[in-house]
Order: sequence, then C-alpha cells, then structure tokens
Amino acid sequence: MTDALLRDDEAELQRQVRAFVEREVIPHASRWDQEERYPRELFEKLGALGWLGTAFPESVGGSGGGSVLYAILCSELARGSAGAALGIYVHTALACSALLHLGDKSHHEVLSAALRGTAVGCWAYAEPGAGADVSSVSTRARRDGDEYVVDGSKLYITNAPFADFMVVVASTAPDQGLKGMSLFLVERTREGVSTGKPMKKLGMGASEMSEIVFDGCRVPVSNRLGEEGSGFLAAMKVLVLGRIAAASFGVGLGRAALENAAAYTRERVQFGAPLVKQQFVRFTLADMATRLEAAWQLTLAAARLVDAGKPFDKEASMAKLFASETATWACERSLHLCGAQGYMSESPAQRFYRDCKVLELGEGTSEIQRETIARYLVK
Ligand SMILES: Cc1cc2nc3c(=O)[nH]c(=O)nc-3n(C[C@H](O)[C@H](O)[C@H](O)COP(=O)(O)OP(=O)(O)OC[C@H]3O[C@@H](n4cnc5c(N)ncnc54)[C@H](O)[C@@H]3O)c2cc1C
Repeated sequence: MTDALLRDDEAELQRQVRAFVEREVIPHASRWDQEERYPRELFEKLGALGWLGTAFPESVGGSGGGSVLYAILCSELARGSAGAALGIYVHTALACSALLHLGDKSHHEVLSAALRGTAVGCWAYAEPGAGADVSSVSTRARRDGDEYVVDGSKLYITNAPFADFMVVVASTAPDQGLKGMSLFLVERTREGVSTGKPMKKLGMGASEMSEIVFDGCRVPVSNRLGEEGSGFLAAMKVLVLGRIAAASFGVGLGRAALENAAAYTRERVQFGAPLVKQQFVRFTLADMATRLEAAWQLTLAAARLVDAGKPFDKEASMAKLFASETATWACERSLHLCGAQGYMSESPAQRFYRDCKVLELGEGTSEIQRETIARYLVK
C-alpha cells in the first residue's frame, strides 16, 4: 500500500497501531470471533494509549489530530479484527462525536471518560421499522416539564449489551419527520432502559449487538444533544468520521484478505509449483492490491478534505461506497484463492468473507451513498 505520502506523524501512528495490532489483536481475532464476545479490555488499552481520543480536541480529553489519523487507526484495527474495530468505531465516530459536536460542557465529563475507555458508548438509531429511511424513526421523546419521557425500541445496536451510555435518536415532533428528530444521551443505569440478549449474526463475531427497549425512561432536558428538532440533520453534518471510518474499515479488512491470500498461494503447491506461479493467481492478487490502493487513496483524500475544512460530502460517500464494495470483492477473492482451506472455520479467509458485507449496509447503504453522489451530479 502506498503510504509514502503520509506525513511523519501519520506514518508514526500507523507504525505504532500496526505493532499493537500484531501483538494484541491478530493472535486473538479468531477466538474472539468464535466466542462472539467483545474484547472489552480493548477500550481501556486504546484509551490508555490515547488512541480513542484521536481526532478529539485535547480540551475534552482527546489527543488532537484529525480525520486522516482516525482513518489510519480504523484501517489498522480492522486489518486485525473487523469485529473489534466495529465496537471502537461506533463508540468514537458516532457516540463520542455526537457528545463533542452536539453536546455542551455538561456532557464533557462523560465524553472524557469515554475517550479514556472507562465508559463505553453506543449509537442507537436503527429500529424494527427504521433502516435506510431515517424519517421513519418511531421512538418517541415526549417533553414533560424538565424531563423527556422516552418510549420505543432500537434494534441491531452495536455495543448495546454492555454500553454505559447511549446516544439515542428519537422523535420529539412525529408530524415533522426528519425535522422532528432529536438526539439524547441516555445512561444505561436509568430506569426504563433494558437491553436484549446479544443477537446472532453472520459476521463481526467479535462485536456484540442487541435490542434496546425504552419504557417510560425519564431523562433530564439537559441530556438533549443540540436543539430540539434539529438533532438528526445536525448529526449528519457533524458526524464526519462515520463514512471515513467505514471506508477505512474496508481498506483494512481488504488488506488483511489480500495478505492472507498472498501468503497462502505462496505456500500451497499444486501442479508441481506454488499456486502463485499461476498467472490467474498473480493477476487476482494484482487486481486486489490495485483496487485496495484506489480505495485507500479515495479515503485519504476525503479525510484530508475534512481536515482542511473543505466540502467533503460527495467524496466521503465515494470513498465509503468504493471501499466497502471493494472489501466485499477482495474478501470473496481471498476465500476463492484459499480453496477448501479458506472455507474451514479456523481460516481467517472465511472470517473476512463473513465480516465484510456489513460495511455495505451500515453508515448509509451503498444505495444511499449512490443517491448522495448523484445529488451532486444532477443539481
Ligand atoms: C453488524 C451490524 C451492526 C449495526 N450496528 C448499528 C448500530 O450500532 N446502530 C444503529 O443504529 N444501527 C446499526 N445497524 C443497523 C444499520 O443502521 C442498518 O442496517 C441500516 O440503517 C440499514 O437499514 P436496514 O438494514 O434495515 O435496511 P433497509 O432499510 O430495510 O434496506 C434493505 C435494502 O434496501 C435498500 N434500500 C432501502 N431504501 C432504498 C431506496 N430508497 N432506494 C434504493 N435502495 C433502497 C437498502 O440499500 C438495502 O440494500 C447495524 C447493522 C448491522 C448488520
């Protein structure tokens, strides 16, 4: 991967995270996946190293830096374990970013604990009836004096089984669609909050997700993040790390799939020679490397736009779309090149194959990204 143009601090972070991942993530990734349990100690380890605070200002307990550093962090973590990286991404790019950008000083105590890794967050948007269509969120937050009363349920929420706090998208004015959405910080310990059992899923075994039910849960007005009714639209503007992170995930996971296929085909002998001597194999590896390089450069370009304070919406969607679809393709090719060995449950190839698909679904599906890009082309 051409990283020759990374700045010194970017290359240094990449080197450090890669060494950490080789030591503390890759040796355990298969077991975490099979046990379907999140390695919670990662939050404190990454917090102690200051990496959870990447792209967050020092004034709130962050480590500074911007989206490029965050992209490097996500890509390297996903190369080691996409499931483990998923929990970190939801916590930082969504839950912590919402507290930083939409919250005020009263939310900074929770935020700095979250950046140290001593409190874990989740992002609770999706519902049984609300997926790609944000305006159909039906969880209701009704104002009652100095409090809101939250009722409804959320589905597929990563980190929910153990999260200490939740950033919840709820409707405060159901007749106003998107303009009636607000965001709330809800602490797990509040009455009326319950989570279901961890859900069984195809991949991302090292991450845990569940339903969350709010039953007459009362939160103070001060727990609202941002203005009433402006919540979701504001969130879309400020949660800039989301698509960058998802694109970086695709690159990291695709890179792991490429390395795995290259290593296997160098060793595996058929027809009297290592598989890698076959032109088909070499060309497949070359195509994987080329597409992943393109995905990484798109991701870095989008991240650099964010850091330069320039418009980035179209480019972030392009990076997310291309990197996630490239990851799906590269993981499928990696399994194909590993043959039956790749299909066995101890093989990393089958784990990558199961992990990758969700990147096309979360953080805006591929169709939503195409709609976003097309809007800029036809306006
Ligand atoms: C592993 C995993 C982790 C997740 N973690 C979280 C989390 O932490 N927090 C959270 O809030 N959610 C989470 N989700 C849920 C995620 O937000 C949703 O999957 C996403 O919003 C898409 O919704 P949906 O899956 O219900 O798809 P649907 O909206 O039902 O869409 C199904 C398909 O139809 C397509 N489609 C829908 N509308 C259109 C249209 N207008 N034009 C063209 N195509 C369309 C979609 O692109 C998709 O391919 C997670 C999901 C998974 C699988």
